[in-house]
Amino acid sequence: MSHEREEGNQKKKVMIGRMTVILVLVLTILVIGIVIKNISSNGNGKIDSNTQAKNNGEEDDEPKEMSEIEKVFLDRNGEKLESLPILMYHFFYDANAGETGRNSNWMEISDFEEQMKYLSENNYYYPSWDEVFRFVNGDMDLPSKSIVVTIDDGSESFFRLAIPILEKYNVSATSFIVTSWFTTEIINEHTSDILIFRSHSHDMHRPGSDGQGAFLTMTYDEAYNDLETSKNMVGSSDIFCYPFGHTNDFTFQMLTETGYKLAVTTKPGRVSPGQEPLLLTRVRMSQGEPLSRFIEKVK
Ligand SMILES: [Zn+2]
Repeated sequence: MSHEREEGNQKKKVMIGRMTVILVLVLTILVIGIVIKNISSNGNGKIDSNTQAKNNGEEDDEPKEMSEIEKVFLDRNGEKLESLPILMYHFFYDANAGETGRNSNWMEISDFEEQMKYLSENNYYYPSWDEVFRFVNGDMDLPSKSIVVTIDDGSESFFRLAIPILEKYNVSATSFIVTSWFTTEIINEHTSDILIFRSHSHDMHRPGSDGQGAFLTMTYDEAYNDLETSKNMVGSSDIFCYPFGHTNDFTFQMLTETGYKLAVTTKPGRVSPGQEPLLLTRVRMSQGEPLSRFIEKVK
């Protein structure tokens, strides 16, 4: 073997060595590039904190889009509600069409319109029954100017006069209906973004053996079946409305056994955290009250 050949071989080895180092470097850079791309970019150049959190083994702390209630809180400067008014309406009449209200439970429709307009113009927040449940249990704050609108009995006057007003001012409301007076088709047809139907019993809106609401003196099976039937028709057991507001230990037991979470009475008052969820008080709306009285009731 000549000297020159040996030198040539030596040079070759050095060249191969250098090329290997360069190749390894390039590969390393490529791999790092791919890894960084995977953990960081999601198309807009921003760090995907979800992936980052997972890599760090931390909780998912990805900033979520603000919920409606969070926006309302922001609008109210974080001001919280102390007690919640659940308004209770019944029937409506149109004085302009020559109609009259039979008793204080009848609300003149232009008065109702004035009230709903007030709620709308003052950006009232309409919590869901689930939010009311959590508020009553002290598990959730509601923003100031929160309100719940309820209308009992699902009368013809409610459908004809009140629903168009609720729609006009985009006020969310719950209609408590005696489900045996309706069909699921009617319920579904009128359910909307702003209007839901809930149980006012299936067939207990009548006098029982003691002259009080029938619920108080029914047998266990009768009451159980009634509550189950109306629950299935309205598709929810988040809230029940006692016929005539009559309650006793039996009604309480039956609502518990059939899984109702909340129930409203006709007892007057606003709802505060700590109140019994199955005996919620309401604010009665009566005919002929001036708007100033309404503002007093809802503030
Ligand atoms: Zn009723």
